[in-house]
Amino acid sequence: MRLYFFGVICFASLLLTAQEKYPSDAFRSPMEIPLVLAGTFGELRSNHFHSGIDIKTQGRQGLPIIAIADGTVARIKVSHWGYGKALYIAHPNGYTSVYAHLRKFSPEIEAYIKKLQYKKQSYEVEAFPDFGELKVAKGSTIAYSGNTGGSSGPHLHFEIRNSVTEKPTNPLLYGYDVRDATNPSLIGLFAYPLSNEAVVNQSAKKIQLNYTKQPDGSFLTDTVKAIGVIGFGFNGFDRQDMAANKNGVYAVKQVVNGKVYSEYDFETFSFRETRYINTLIDYAHFGKFRQRIQKCFKEPYNRLGIYKNLHNNGKITVKEGLSYSVEIQISDVEGNITKLVIPVEGVRETAKIKKDDKTTNDFVLADKPNNFDLGAAKVYFPANTFYQDFYIELEKGTDTISIHNNSVAAHRNFTISFDVSKYTYDQRKQLFIARLNDKKMPIHSRTFKRDGSFTTRTRSFGTYTLAKDSVAPKIKAKNFKEKQWLSNYSYLSLEISDDLSGISTYNATLNGEWILMEYEPKTKTIIYNFDDNILNQTQCDLKVVVSDNVGNSTTFKSTFFRK
Ligand SMILES: [Zn+2]
Repeated sequence: MRLYFFGVICFASLLLTAQEKYPSDAFRSPMEIPLVLAGTFGELRSNHFHSGIDIKTQGRQGLPIIAIADGTVARIKVSHWGYGKALYIAHPNGYTSVYAHLRKFSPEIEAYIKKLQYKKQSYEVEAFPDFGELKVAKGSTIAYSGNTGGSSGPHLHFEIRNSVTEKPTNPLLYGYDVRDATNPSLIGLFAYPLSNEAVVNQSAKKIQLNYTKQPDGSFLTDTVKAIGVIGFGFNGFDRQDMAANKNGVYAVKQVVNGKVYSEYDFETFSFRETRYINTLIDYAHFGKFRQRIQKCFKEPYNRLGIYKNLHNNGKITVKEGLSYSVEIQISDVEGNITKLVIPVEGVRETAKIKKDDKTTNDFVLADKPNNFDLGAAKVYFPANTFYQDFYIELEKGTDTISIHNNSVAAHRNFTISFDVSKYTYDQRKQLFIARLNDKKMPIHSRTFKRDGSFTTRTRSFGTYTLAKDSVAPKIKAKNFKEKQWLSNYSYLSLEISDDLSGISTYNATLNGEWILMEYEPKTKTIIYNFDDNILNQTQCDLKVVVSDNVGNSTTFKSTFFRK
């Protein structure tokens, strides 16, 4: 049905639709279960657009992951964070498929990566096998699904990238069978007065608009009275069949009096531009309400390449006495469209709701570098750290400084340098720079220590302080006891934790030989697998050393027996 629909459009326009640019029958499903999605491509996430689809795995782990086509393993990465255990397969047709948050790889790939882990004596590794070294056939099992890395529940994160540009593309453009019979849902609509004199419904500030559902399924607002340059934004989501997950929408189009003013979609984007999401959404609104409004206009510092059409950057200049019909079309990848019509009348009215004109002593120019001395620490913002000029709120304190609030996004890292000259060398050892979280708990911020000063680089505003970690990590056996016979055991499991600065390194040996411990920070667990075959003696002396981020270290020793 979908192909037919797009086929007709293409025939009429002689332009390739997104679906037609990508092969629709080259790739099979990466799993053997129905594709039910917990996340769509381009979905709005923290500081990034989602670069693949999240396939639900029925709450389970260990389900087979299948090669979507013949290919060669191009990259294997094992990390505590991000993609966790991830596999990249290059296919002859110029695309690379990516499978992430895996529990483990197929035996051949698992053996390849274990060899490297033992050689480098590290769980976290990255490998780029030679072309053809690890070949896979379409339909073969290449891995097993899991929950590793930055995953908050079992699922497969699946991507299809252009092998040359490495740009991720929308996997749903390749003919996968993910049913979606319903239009995207609308949660809220907002109008933005953008120029200095602009007023919308007697407000000089962003204002929410009400709408009602029409018999044809579209939405209509009351007539908006406005003057000056204005823009619109909405908050919405898309839901596929078979799941309640609120996923991202595919495309947004804004038409004014029949002319396209802005249009973007999530066919593809580049990782380099992904953080510009903070200029696509209303970041101040997100900071306050944790809701992402997608703007239908483009801000000056927005460098996103996802726009297909722009007129006046999607901004509408409303003139007195004229009327405008603004239509916003929000669609999913299946072509279901939610339409929203906003009649606008050019009427000059005074603003009853005034602009916030809160000022502070410090004004930041986005395109210039900015330095601030806050006593306990100095803050340096390089040029182009921000998307806007603004009055910044800065607070001085003893050993603590506070930098603005979550209404403004930083695009680049800035530097915070604490003066630690009043501390002795010994005192400095256990100190680190911490950011206080919402519960005022110190969170370790990677600290570079030089004579007399500690420096950290960050993109997060908030309160920063010098914190002290004097307690060494804790290590506890989870599935075994001292002097126990473990002949029938397939693995050793221990719990490692640290109270403040966090775990930096962990190392384990059996009878003096380094062993691979797989660390899962979410469960604070390290696991050794007896299949690794390090043992040839009955008596085994296990030694585990764990250090935190300021260098406090704990050694755990235990003896067990095994035949
Ligand atoms: Zn994902």
